[in-house]
Amino acid sequence: DAIFTGENISKYYSTVNGRKALRVLHQVSIEIKRGEFIGIVGESGCGKSTLAKTLLGLEKPDNGRVLFHDIDIAFLSLSQQREFRRKVQLVFQSPMETFSPRMKIGTVLKEPLCNFGIKNRKELPEAVNEALQKMLLPESYQHKYPHELSGGELQRVSIARCLEIQPEVIIYDEPTSALDTVIQKQILKDILHIHKENKLTSIFISHDIALIRHISDRIIVMYRGCIVEILRGCDLLTKA
Ligand code: ADP
Ligand code: ADP
Repeated sequence: DAIFTGENISKYYSTVNGRKALRVLHQVSIEIKRGEFIGIVGESGCGKSTLAKTLLGLEKPDNGRVLFHDIDIAFLSLSQQREFRRKVQLVFQSPMETFSPRMKIGTVLKEPLCNFGIKNRKELPEAVNEALQKMLLPESYQHKYPHELSGGELQRVSIARCLEIQPEVIIYDEPTSALDTVIQKQILKDILHIHKENKLTSIFISHDIALIRHISDRIIVMYRGCIVEILRGCDLLTKA
């Protein structure tokens, strides 16, 4: 019951002078099952973000392919592309970069609901309140601007924004590495909670295995563009 399958994915970037190709992903194959909580770990620069972008269809692999529900994402029809963009969501490391500084939180939360035609104009205010409640944020925050919220609160807003449109998969790219340790733990707890409550498939990228080993069903360990090890729940208790 695979939701995402990466088959033999390789990806190269050309260097500044354009002569050498930098190998970023090398024959990466993964199968992610529905409902799994997957960790992807490895040192900075090993290709984690590039793998995530490839799964999202934001980067095209030079070799290999990505299947979402057994369909090659390179060959989706226009309506399938739209579905795919709704079903697979990304949460970035720095929410400040995600949100426009001039856009109030309420507007941030209305946008995807309008874009995907999920709620009509009349239903929007209630939907925004619900989205805030779900991530334990006060309703009054819809009138605030991003700079008025803390990093942890902003990350909650980005997660709320994903949840509104009922995705199947959320990919988190180092969502807590810009936050202090206490907030980091809280957000992690929330992420695990919404994973279970919404029957999501979650992919959590981190350079810190200690952070995610308790919450992951499997951890994919990367080194220089390759998957070097896959740890399962039981290995994690003994090895990590
Ligand atoms: P991206 O995945 O967006 O390319 P990086 O993985 O390069 O980002 O780094 C994400 C953040 O985590 C950066 O702010 C970086 O300083 C920090 N970081 C990366 N690796 C480590 C590490 N081993 N120890 C501490 N901080 C790290
Ligand atoms: P990680 O997320 O593990 O930190 P990344 O996937 O961000 O790793 O990057 C892997 C490697 O690819 C790094 O050496 C990075 O500098 C390089 N890289 C990432 N994106 C690009 C790009 N658009 N052009 C050229 N090189 C890139």
